[in-house]
Amino acid sequence: MKQITHYLVLVTIFISTLASARIIETNAMEEILPHITKKTWVVFDLDNTVMEPTQTLGSDQWFDYLVKQTGSVEQAIELWESVQAHTRMQPVEEGTPILIQRLQARGYKVFALTARPQSLNSVTVKQLASLGVRFSKIVSIGPTSNKGDTLLNELSQAEVLPPRVVFVDDKQKHVKNVEEALDTAGIDNIEFRYGAADPKVRAFNAKIAAIQLRHFQNTGIIISDSQARAILP
Ligand SMILES: [Mg+2]
Repeated sequence: MKQITHYLVLVTIFISTLASARIIETNAMEEILPHITKKTWVVFDLDNTVMEPTQTLGSDQWFDYLVKQTGSVEQAIELWESVQAHTRMQPVEEGTPILIQRLQARGYKVFALTARPQSLNSVTVKQLASLGVRFSKIVSIGPTSNKGDTLLNELSQAEVLPPRVVFVDDKQKHVKNVEEALDTAGIDNIEFRYGAADPKVRAFNAKIAAIQLRHFQNTGIIISDSQARAILP
């Protein structure tokens, strides 16, 4: 009897784990597609999800490094922003711009929810346009706000609530915050912790970024990682 009780407890734990396991880990953007049903809202993070700079300077991992190094989010934002207007961007995954275009063409509500500051919006729009991405809306909240709360605010302004929200972000904290907020609001939600940029984040080299920053500040030109590596002492 004791063994049966034990077994039942395990089964219950397993089932409840399944029910709440809506954070899906993926490196392939197309994995979101089967989860998008009628009238689903599809919400994308931008940096390291939709796009990334073509070099280390200006990357999200460089921003995180700057915050740690300077101990000041404001200082990090200032430096990071100074690069954004000048850097070329590329999609994290080649097929993502077309995937977004196709969702839009099918009539889904697709928008961006980014930790970028609002002040960068016109630059952000240009960067996305260079990849062929045009979001009907970009919600910029700054690096210290909660994406879950912001999404709830968006939902509170909607004429009709979506039956489901699919959210894609490379950062675990945002994915978790969105899951918690939407669960509380009782809206069906599926989050993707998107890891296609993880290898680059892990391989971040502060010396490369420092050489690129110095060169950029002296000349206004952003050199590539291989060019920076060639001048490494
Ligand atoms: Mg991101």
